[in-house]
Amino acid sequence: MKQENAKYIDCHICGTSILEQCAIEEDGQFLCGECVINETKKEVNVVEEAKKKKREEEYEIERQKLILKKKKQGVIVLVVSVIVLILSQFVMKLNQPEPVHSVTVDYTKDLYAAKSLITIGIYKYMSENEQLPIALDKLAPGYVPIGLDETFHSFKYIKLNDELYELEIIPPSSVSQTGENDEE
Ligand SMILES: [Zn+2]
Repeated sequence: MKQENAKYIDCHICGTSILEQCAIEEDGQFLCGECVINETKKEVNVVEEAKKKKREEEYEIERQKLILKKKKQGVIVLVVSVIVLILSQFVMKLNQPEPVHSVTVDYTKDLYAAKSLITIGIYKYMSENEQLPIALDKLAPGYVPIGLDETFHSFKYIKLNDELYELEIIPPSSVSQTGENDEE
């Protein structure tokens, strides 16, 4: 008798006839167990989708922040390297020797400087020719600065052997041909 009294109801979604006591009410509609499960799955999926979307959005925001940060760092690195470049240029400019002006140096007024240059010239000559020059004239041109040969007459150069020489500055009074005390 009980079976006759059993009331059947159609599932709102799939239309399957189910016992009323087995139907599950959801939002005022009766559903079969299977559809409830499916619906729940759908809802879970919707929630999961929403979570996933939110995660993606958060990730994108973080990514944009990171890109911005990197861009800022890039700009900072660029600015720093430009500053370093400018500074190094500045320092190089400071350390650069003054351009040599084409000033004609009068070696005759500084015979000690001339002597140093002649000595350097003699070493240069010796290293290339493996012997001392016979006379100072052999040093010009090529072994001494241009114009230095004008001072050669102010020096007494004696080649003692292949490796030894004497180089002395002749006192100006002896050089002068008009000196009062000459030949005395
Ligand atoms: Zn159903």
